[in-house]
Amino acid sequence: MDLTGKVALVTGSGRGIGREIAIRLAEAGASVVINDVGNPEPPNEVVAQIKQMGHPSMVAMGDVSQSVDVNRIVDTTVAAYGKLDILVNNAGITRDQLVLRMTDEDWDKVMAVDLKSVFVCSRAALRHMIRQRWGRIVSISSIVGIIGNVGQANYASAKAGIIGFTKATAKEVASRNVTVNAVAPGFIDTAMTQQLPEERRQEMAGKIPAGYLGTPRDVAEAVAFLASEEARYITGQVLTVDGGISLGKLM
Ligand code: NAP
Repeated sequence: MDLTGKVALVTGSGRGIGREIAIRLAEAGASVVINDVGNPEPPNEVVAQIKQMGHPSMVAMGDVSQSVDVNRIVDTTVAAYGKLDILVNNAGITRDQLVLRMTDEDWDKVMAVDLKSVFVCSRAALRHMIRQRWGRIVSISSIVGIIGNVGQANYASAKAGIIGFTKATAKEVASRNVTVNAVAPGFIDTAMTQQLPEERRQEMAGKIPAGYLGTPRDVAEAVAFLASEEARYITGQVLTVDGGISLGKLM
């Protein structure tokens, strides 16, 4: 997969899966814009690593659930590199709670960061992609949006929403040489899953047919493929990267 000359924006790429996606796209030759909300500090380390690899990179901080921030991030990207070819909607959060105890704030925050962000970032990016007649949007959903999970009704709804958004938008822009796909990871070893008790992590690993949690690299490889020219005829699809966990059990 050769992404030489392509410009990519990866949201929430200061750490975890987003960081690995940014590094993978740079390895394939892309210039990569790194975004997060600067918690606990700006993601300068990722930029330094990509520059060390010999590829252009810069930080564009901002909250991707806010249109004002997103428009600034996309404008900054295009001002610096002249275009935007690849958008990876990766930023996401969890606010887990059983439905009966879930607050309006738990619901609204997850909807804003995990779902509304995908709409506002895609809208801003598509303005450029449609004009240049080439684009790739890859959004990080979750198997939780496909099979559900106790305590994650807000997260499952947002991640399922990404799948609907992906299919509808794919139909709107397919004739412009822009593809829109989603990747649905299973349990990946990042800060998001490290905050779970070790007992729960072991229990999860035991349910995965592959027998272990995935790595951010496993997700990054799928994203790099969907972002490539080789994947030009794939659009509106959801690619699960989950060691087989969403296949379910026969008995
Ligand atoms: P993570 O380690 O918690 O990293 C999340 C990233 O998103 C951080 O860089 C964070 O920035 C950024 N972020 C959070 N809110 C943001 C906002 N409003 N605007 C911009 N950036 C924001 O998460 P992860 O495990 O790598 O997950 C990445 C994506 O994969 C998420 O969409 C998640 O739902 C999805 N996913 C993860 C798993 C898993 O098992 N880990 C499974 C399925 C799907 P700061 O560092 O500044 O806070």
